[in-house]
Amino acid sequence: MPEGHTVHRLAQAFRSGFAGQRVRTSSPQGRFTDAALLDGEVLRAVEAAGKHLLLEFAPDADVPITSPLVRWVHVHLGLYGSWTFEGDPGFALGHAIGAPRVRVGEREQAQTDADAAGSTGSERRDTADGAVTGRAAWRERAPRDTVRLRIRGEHGIADLTGPTACEVLDANGRRALLDRLGPDPLREDADPARFVERVRRSRTAIGTLLMNQQVIAGVGNIYRAEALFRARLDPWVPGTDLSRGMLEGIWEDLSVLMAYGARTGRIVTCQVEHRDVEARIVERSRGTRQNGDEDPNVVPREKSFYVYHRQTLPCRVCGTTVRSTDMAGRTVFWCPRCQTVRSRRAGWSRENPAADWALPSESSP
Ligand SMILES: [Zn+2]
Repeated sequence: MPEGHTVHRLAQAFRSGFAGQRVRTSSPQGRFTDAALLDGEVLRAVEAAGKHLLLEFAPDADVPITSPLVRWVHVHLGLYGSWTFEGDPGFALGHAIGAPRVRVGEREQAQTDADAAGSTGSERRDTADGAVTGRAAWRERAPRDTVRLRIRGEHGIADLTGPTACEVLDANGRRALLDRLGPDPLREDADPARFVERVRRSRTAIGTLLMNQQVIAGVGNIYRAEALFRARLDPWVPGTDLSRGMLEGIWEDLSVLMAYGARTGRIVTCQVEHRDVEARIVERSRGTRQNGDEDPNVVPREKSFYVYHRQTLPCRVCGTTVRSTDMAGRTVFWCPRCQTVRSRRAGWSRENPAADWALPSESSP
């Protein structure tokens, strides 16, 4: 399932590829019957909230936002959903993700299973071949019959397959969705105090709370494990035992990490000085395919994380074997020696202050 930074990148791709255009919408699969309602309308704006994408449609560009004619397509990719973009060179994802690229929807967990089944590999190759032809003219291809929603704009198409949610919302529905979600560190309107207070009221373990989208929106399994490690925090500490300072520190750290992810398409949490320690590729980490893996300038994934998918390997900081177990239905990874912060009074204590954290080189702007 894509973590929140990917959905924000998708939003940016839709903005640059479609926003302000009158678009055609259809449901080749037939399951999204409301696609017909929106056909020929203007795709006016795009927003991401946690793992949710909202595409704003109206009959015309100047319809007031308060009008009942304004509607939103709400999409949640879930474990198996993905967007595929095709179009003119430079279309939609050109500058954001590199190449008119395909399959946004890194299946960070599901990828391993899909690889094992042998399906995703061939699909990726097909679409990658199509994407690198560099032709000046783009010709719309007939959609596959699994496409839930196709959006066609002036310069290309976006095909949605396999989402958990694809529905039309009115203003109240959009509001209700946003109110249901916890604050999203990547949104300008996010209120970190809502996160801090929500956690401190709960006796649930912090490792579980970080995965609860009503507590904090957009954090997935990688950010959970890595943020806990960077805070040196034991994943099983109940929310009620955590100080405000600790939680504010985690929020700020996640904001920086996720903003980097949204800019580059990659999750990198490992500080420069730790990257070469035990940078061993484990077979299982193949599941962590990220945007931009082909780029030689990015931090390779075996150097990107402290604990995620590093179970059985020595901790990069202390050498203790990294462990994994089930927590909130997903595997959590942690170092039992580094992550011993449990106290109510503990402040946030990343070993290296933020100023020392050198961001990895980014792909060309
Ligand atoms: Zn350690």
